[in-house]
Amino acid sequence: INVIKMKSISKVYDNGAVALDNVDITIRRGEFVFIVGSSGAGKSTFVKLLLREIMPTSGHLLVNGYNVKKMPNREIPYLRRSLGVIFQDYRLLPNKTVYENVAFAMRVIESPRRLILRSVNSVLDVVGLRDKYKCFPSQLSGGEQQRVAIARAIVNNPALIIADEPTGNLDPETSWEIMDIFQRINAAGTTIVMATHDKMIVDTMQKRVLAIEDGRIVRDEASGGYGYEV
Ligand code: ADP
Ligand code: ADP
Repeated sequence: INVIKMKSISKVYDNGAVALDNVDITIRRGEFVFIVGSSGAGKSTFVKLLLREIMPTSGHLLVNGYNVKKMPNREIPYLRRSLGVIFQDYRLLPNKTVYENVAFAMRVIESPRRLILRSVNSVLDVVGLRDKYKCFPSQLSGGEQQRVAIARAIVNNPALIIADEPTGNLDPETSWEIMDIFQRINAAGTTIVMATHDKMIVDTMQKRVLAIEDGRIVRDEASGGYGYEV
């Protein structure tokens, strides 16, 4: 089953910049995929297309069964709920506790209270933060904040996790703690697509690597390394 299918996808911004140029890729359920490439290569554009933050200029794009180009705007929230998204800068709500940051994702879809309680506790266990549930983000380290963001991303049980430079602000040891969590989530069946500059992580994990240069896929290895000098 395909989680992502891009067929002849191009993205040309209004100023004429060609950010993606005729991209064809398929990502299947359960895969762990690194997206690598230098700054300006098109990685963020790739991620934004999946979230439908931007529209492709041409081509066909299916994400979790949604036809991203043709879907009506009212369906966008359903697409986004089928995805868990993690950013470099965590993006937690600063005036909400750890518990409430994670629960919020379930409250907006009006999940029953008891399910929220059970699911939030369960995902806080997954990321090892159950004892910090009352803390505010400012009381946590960067690695802990990112673990909250991961808990929030998985709490609605998405088929696909999209992570954009999730270890970009973290030291190597903390980065590995985050990757360890991703490994476990992936082993439980969730597809992970992660854009990264972290050569050490990509080289060590030997997962599928998609390299983008000037908007084109220049390498697609089932089990590869970073492939660039840093
Ligand atoms: P990366 O994430 O790999 O650094 P981006 O997807 O951000 O690459 O950018 C790809 C290309 O598209 C770059 O040439 C960049 O300047 C251009 N670009 C990105 N966003 C915009 C935008 N909103 N308007 C115009 N050009 C853009
Ligand atoms: P239950 O609460 O029914 O025992 P679980 O403890 O397995 O179910 O998980 C509760 C919720 O936590 C799930 O619906 C799911 O959203 C999330 N969850 C727990 N573990 C994972 C995981 N490894 N990957 C993704 N989501 C998870």
